[in-house]
Amino acid sequence: MNLARGWLERCSAHHAICNQQDPDFIPTRLLDVRGPAIRLTLTESKKRKEYTKYCCLSHCWGGVTDMPLLKTTTLKSFVSGIDITTLPRTFQDAILITRQLGVRYLWIDSLCIVQDSAEDWAKEAAVMGKIYQNGHCTISAAEAASGHGGCFVRRNPLNCNPPLGYPSVQPSASGAEIEVDVPAPRLTMVDVFTSKLASRGWVFQEALLSPRILYFGRGLFWNCKAGQASELDPLGRGILHMGMQYGPATDAIFPKLLESSRPGRARKRSAASKKLHREWMRLVATYSRLQLTFENDRLPALAGIAQTVMSLAGGVLKGQYLAGMWKCTLVFDLLWSQGAAALDGHGPRPRLDRNECPSWSWASIGGAVESYLGTWQDWPGGMELFVDIVSATTECDPLDTARTGKVTGGDLTMECIPIPCHVEARKYATVDMVEVHWRLIDGEGKEIGKATPDTNPNEFVDGATFAVPFLRIEDGSEMELHGLVLVQKGDVFARVAKWTATTPKVS
Ligand SMILES: [Zn+2]
Repeated sequence: MNLARGWLERCSAHHAICNQQDPDFIPTRLLDVRGPAIRLTLTESKKRKEYTKYCCLSHCWGGVTDMPLLKTTTLKSFVSGIDITTLPRTFQDAILITRQLGVRYLWIDSLCIVQDSAEDWAKEAAVMGKIYQNGHCTISAAEAASGHGGCFVRRNPLNCNPPLGYPSVQPSASGAEIEVDVPAPRLTMVDVFTSKLASRGWVFQEALLSPRILYFGRGLFWNCKAGQASELDPLGRGILHMGMQYGPATDAIFPKLLESSRPGRARKRSAASKKLHREWMRLVATYSRLQLTFENDRLPALAGIAQTVMSLAGGVLKGQYLAGMWKCTLVFDLLWSQGAAALDGHGPRPRLDRNECPSWSWASIGGAVESYLGTWQDWPGGMELFVDIVSATTECDPLDTARTGKVTGGDLTMECIPIPCHVEARKYATVDMVEVHWRLIDGEGKEIGKATPDTNPNEFVDGATFAVPFLRIEDGSEMELHGLVLVQKGDVFARVAKWTATTPKVS
């Protein structure tokens, strides 16, 4: 812990970029870990200044049910005191680490959000990103599959520096020298972004928004906005400066995304919005591969990132966020499709149960989604648009003032050219993957392209089907058409697939 304390002290004293917390933000409730029995503190009733320094726990619940939860019935007793021995191992370890770091307050979701109040959950989920963003240090229980896993896991001694394992000693061929073969250290950043915690959806924004994270996993790792280190490389000389939580590619997206939202670029707004589409949908592609215990948390668990992008844009993106996409780039954002990873071996899954999210949002389906990751407008041969979005709205919980959380309904009106069609099933099997596509046939029996279904193909069964062209780009000797497949359900249409068609260029 000396090492961890040293990283934290150095970062707090010398890294300006890591010390940009909002002094006006404090979580509604915090755990005071100073005494032998910890206590829940209701921060609104006390002086704000006292709470500016708190740790956050980033962890996986893992279906643990036998642990105390903050409920309307337990709130009073939590304020009096919580017996630490009743808490799961991961929480006990986090309390110990917080104390060792010299910090008095700790935030843990299940002990600081009232679990049987939908109202409290909606209110707190809306500020979850800010809670991590403004914390002093996030403690990541990286290898704990559940609350019982703990922060201090059994580690490979060969990973420590200097290695504690047994070097193999052999006389050289001449016998005059002894060759000592010290095992190569094996603790790398890969241990962080392949940790058990890294596959969890909620952890995505916790990791991207926290100014400092201490990872307790296969080794001890440090990550702050200014750099990274590990117990193997305490000064961070050799490692790193690469992606921490999700690998180099993804971690690089976030700064680019933030850069594309900065107000200083307002005069280049059209260039910035192209970038916003690209970086945002890249982020969504990575995020959508992660697992959530409750699939309907897909938008709430990304809300903090959306809010950060909006706040950096300084009002330009206000009211623009729509169910995981942006109004200003909606015509392109809508062209997402079910990702190959989601189709791997299983085929498309049903649309999420009880999900009121509109079918045009990627958050209405489970599993990975993909998107074209370029900027459509920059296509060398030019781009032709066939749709005009007239209006787009979503409904959110009234307590979700940022309108970045769960969506309970939505409408999209556009002027377009619907082509009546029907679908024919066809499966393409490759060595390790079954890719499911459908042939789209128009009214004259002509094949007009392929459809990648969003979900279970049963969605196609009812109602008239239409292919709707969105845009056409020129790719060398070919023209590529991208659009959506809609099914009529009464007065409205539901999205069921992404449509792609390739035709030879007509000269
Ligand atoms: Zn720092």
